[in-house]
Amino acid sequence: MSDIDRLWEMQQHTSSYMTVKKSLKDLSAKDKIKRIDNQLKETERELTELGEKIKSSEDMLNKSNRLLKDYDYRLKKVEKSLYEENINDLKQLSLLDKERNDIIKDIEDKETEILLTMDEIERLRKEFHDLEKEFSRLKASYNKAVKEYRILLEDLNKKAEEEIREIKRIAAILDEDLYNKFRELINTKGIAVVQVVDNRCSGCNMVLPWVIIDKLKKKDEITYCENCHRMLYYDAD
Ligand SMILES: [Zn+2]
Repeated sequence: MSDIDRLWEMQQHTSSYMTVKKSLKDLSAKDKIKRIDNQLKETERELTELGEKIKSSEDMLNKSNRLLKDYDYRLKKVEKSLYEENINDLKQLSLLDKERNDIIKDIEDKETEILLTMDEIERLRKEFHDLEKEFSRLKASYNKAVKEYRILLEDLNKKAEEEIREIKRIAAILDEDLYNKFRELINTKGIAVVQVVDNRCSGCNMVLPWVIIDKLKKKDEITYCENCHRMLYYDAD
């Protein structure tokens, strides 16, 4: 195997390594995970808020029920005076009757309020239940996305390690000056070794003179493109 064959091989591993590194950098799976995580946090916040609303409606319901008992007790007391105490004073009787009617009105209002609160609690509980289901669904897709991301990350890292191993293996058998020249071209031009396709340099697309093509076919020295200064690789097959 000639130096240019080794360099060409090293170029392919280097390009592949750079592609893997780029994929690792802009993994779209990361964005997906972040998006689901935000949705989870938002849903959790809504659940807390709903839980607090349910709690305060339940407190209100308890308070109304206590008031209702209190009204019932007062109604009984007034009715007892009205019907059992043989009151003859008309004014006093009409006052008691008015009080009785007022209490009945309060009881009716309170009962309506209690029914409305109970409906509200039922509605909130249903909403809470639905949101809990949504939360579980999100949690499952979050776990799935993280798992997929971990597998992808592992694959890409493994691939990167393989490429580094290959690059090191070739570097060890390559002339040091050539290796340094290769690195220098990688750093300045991104790609160090380019293939000759249809007698053109595929780095800069310049048509190569026949004398260069003849030199390339022999493969006994490294030939550079006169225009872009990259190393030229000629595949005889
Ligand atoms: Zn060129």
